[in-house]
Amino acid sequence: MSRFLSKKHASLVPYVPGEQPRDMQYVKLNTNESPYPPSPAVIAAAAAEAGRMNLYCDPECTELRKKAAALYGVRPENILPVNGSDEILYLAFLAFGDEDHPIAFPDISYGFYPVYADLLHIPAHVVPLKKDLSIDPADYRGLNETIVLANPNAPTGRALSPEEVESIVASDPDRVVVIDEAYIDFGGVSCVPLIEKYENLLVTQTFSKSRSLAGGRLGFGIGCESLIRDLTTLKYSVNPYNVNRMTQAAGCAAIDDNDYYMENARTIIETREYTARALEELGFTVLPSKANFLFAESPAISGADLYAALKQRGVLVRHFAKDRIDNFTRITVGTREQMDILLDNIRAILNDKGGSPA
Ligand code: PMP
Repeated sequence: MSRFLSKKHASLVPYVPGEQPRDMQYVKLNTNESPYPPSPAVIAAAAAEAGRMNLYCDPECTELRKKAAALYGVRPENILPVNGSDEILYLAFLAFGDEDHPIAFPDISYGFYPVYADLLHIPAHVVPLKKDLSIDPADYRGLNETIVLANPNAPTGRALSPEEVESIVASDPDRVVVIDEAYIDFGGVSCVPLIEKYENLLVTQTFSKSRSLAGGRLGFGIGCESLIRDLTTLKYSVNPYNVNRMTQAAGCAAIDDNDYYMENARTIIETREYTARALEELGFTVLPSKANFLFAESPAISGADLYAALKQRGVLVRHFAKDRIDNFTRITVGTREQMDILLDNIRAILNDKGGSPA
């Protein structure tokens, strides 16, 4: 720490992104990216914009907002495009929390929530998940606090129904509920239609997962017009040109090619179910996932050991050294071929340990 850093950041513990190693070619199943490339039209659209990088991009993202509004069945005034959904989450914490207004979220969820709370000096109300690692909606009803829930949750993959979410949103109309739908396209049911009914609901989405644009950085906040206006004021107070011109063009083309991406999402769901069954046959307990990852544990090997052994064999998964989930590993669902490599390696690791794989 330099002697110049403001004291208010002295104890900040930053978010740790998943590894992006460069030492060798891994089967990369650790950061929930899509295994499928962007569609050819998306690549062409981004490339065509590259030659205009000397000019600022459209700060209003006019075309993109129009197309995204049609995709989500809302009006352009209900949408704020952002630099990955991390940015809309940051803006939401900035907008709806402060020293006197805590933000509630689960003890096991997306690791950025506590970091934003810490950064912005917002008291965090950390609510434990149930024993089976599911969210109990009753814990959040009538809390009188801003609430952030990932649905499906990460890293568990478990999802709430829109009815359960609605029961939380309706229970306290004076507090904002943020529903982080980063993984919604892999089997969950979106709460976007509820924004027409509830002015205290903000839904966040991303093109990082189901639309193969993790490196392009594109996300959206979706909510009633006044919420979006607040968030837009903050965006213009932080970074007006937050979505660069290549990404705006790529996002528009991705929406035009929505069928390609939804087909890929269906394939990922099938591959997820195939992998879950195979892991269960190997003795793993696998949480029911509505996301593009699986959260699994084995009585034969610890989460940390499985992560390390897989890495040594060139397969990257994610392990969280955290209470209650220390024995689990989170495995991104890649292609069928990648999952077969994963499964072969797990079989070999369990054999080496003298476990009892099939
Ligand atoms: N929410 C959740 C639950 C996530 O897992 C992630 C991905 N790390 C994000 C939001 C942010 O994704 P992005 O900024 O790439 O849209």
